[in-house]
Amino acid sequence: MAKIGFIGLGTMGCPMAANIVRGGHQVSGFDVDSNSIKRHVSNGGLESNSASEAAKDAEIVFTMLPNSQHVNTALFEKNGAVESMSKGAIVIDMSTIHPFETDKIRTRLNAMGFFMIDSPIGRTSVEAIQGKSLLMVGGEDKDIEKAKPILNLIGDTIQNCGGPGMGSRMKIVNNYMTTVLNVLSAETLTLARSVGLSQDKCLEVLSGTAAVRSHLTTTYPAKVLQNDVTPAFMIDLAFKDLGIALELGKETNVPLSLGGASKGSYEVAKEEGRGKQDWTSIFLSLQARSGMSLPDKIKE
Ligand code: NAD
Repeated sequence: MAKIGFIGLGTMGCPMAANIVRGGHQVSGFDVDSNSIKRHVSNGGLESNSASEAAKDAEIVFTMLPNSQHVNTALFEKNGAVESMSKGAIVIDMSTIHPFETDKIRTRLNAMGFFMIDSPIGRTSVEAIQGKSLLMVGGEDKDIEKAKPILNLIGDTIQNCGGPGMGSRMKIVNNYMTTVLNVLSAETLTLARSVGLSQDKCLEVLSGTAAVRSHLTTTYPAKVLQNDVTPAFMIDLAFKDLGIALELGKETNVPLSLGGASKGSYEVAKEEGRGKQDWTSIFLSLQARSGMSLPDKIKE
């Protein structure tokens, strides 16, 4: 039985802590909201009156808090976890926070003789309750190995993202894509409705193309990720089709904001001379504009 501290017993933290309790461990929980602590106690957890109390003698201290300022408060401010943590204890921050904040927190903890794993979560509270979260883990391998038996009680998919801070980076990259795709999905279905298409038929048709099957699983692995931009579908044609969709949106009063922004990216790619390249060469264009080096050999 391990001694675990758990700070932040909200929508995600409470069921996660409960799963660690079910695994046979002693979990001292703290939350600024007393109702959350009551829920934790009713799940078999121990009550703490501060982050410091929750962290006392713990081998691992979890934080599952809204943002980085909450993590900093819970760890470093008055009655914070570091006041009572044993040297060599591991802090596992599961909150979704800015990756550079993760780096600063790790540096501070390391200087005090503690270790840190960043481990944001890739699924929702439904999976947290079932103990089936996806964990995007960043940290030293020895710390991850030590924490694994506890992490396995929280999730069924533990992804080691490649070193300290990489879990936090992966989470933001993941959420960039999912949050933007959410808006794109809404724009697409609104455009479809505005021109009288049935929603069901729209979903059925889009499921058979890169629209739903996704670029990252179809067009990218076949083309640009192989350094091949010989056109399966060229930038010039993608630009033309996007232009028609934007015109249609204007005529039907549907604001297609992502479409407008994307048009700009295609325009730049065309100005760079990529018009006859595969549409996935947008990836090369963006990397070049970000000051990154491109592969030496590209098949055009
Ligand atoms: P939540 O608001 O339900 O829970 C956060 C808890 O932290 C609250 O109970 C709050 O009282 C407590 N808290 C705030 N400051 C505190 C402090 N200084 N000390 C102790 N407790 C404190 O949020 P949540 O949905 O559990 O999300 C937590 C984190 O997980 C966020 O960073 C969120 O972005 C991320 N996340 C959430 C989901 C989801 O589906 N809800 C999924 C993946 C990741």
